[in-house]
Amino acid sequence: MNDDCIFCKISRREIPAKEVYRDEEVLAVEDVNPQAPVHLLVMPSQHHPNIAALSDRDDGSLVAKLLGVASRLGREGDGKGFRLVINTGPNGGQTVDHLHVHVLAGRPMTWPPG
Ligand code: AMP
Ligand code: ZN
Repeated sequence: MNDDCIFCKISRREIPAKEVYRDEEVLAVEDVNPQAPVHLLVMPSQHHPNIAALSDRDDGSLVAKLLGVASRLGREGDGKGFRLVINTGPNGGQTVDHLHVHVLAGRPMTWPPG
């Protein structure tokens, strides 16, 4: 755990969040600044800075778990599809250094991303 990390604080229930899913390894919350009608963040309960750091350590099971939960949550929407995004590092647009998968749904997405 990282004492200064906002998502670790959410994981420890030290700051409030709208939780939509939680198990022993991962949790999902609503994004405070939603970019789509559905905008969720799926994250590991333990602190991992980003997907690259986790992939170096994990045997793949936690990565698979995160994507599995994200996909199930994305599918719960209007049935018209969804987008999963994992911003990584400064050029990837990551602003919170605790790995999270964005689940975006409820409107058509454009490509390429900005
Ligand atoms: P990223 O830029 O990929 O690191 O995404 C970080 C996301 O976390 C942004 O979409 C923020 O709106 C969101 N966010 C920041 N603080 C909170 C919070 N306390 N609860 C929920 N979402 C948050
Ligand atoms: Zn953290």
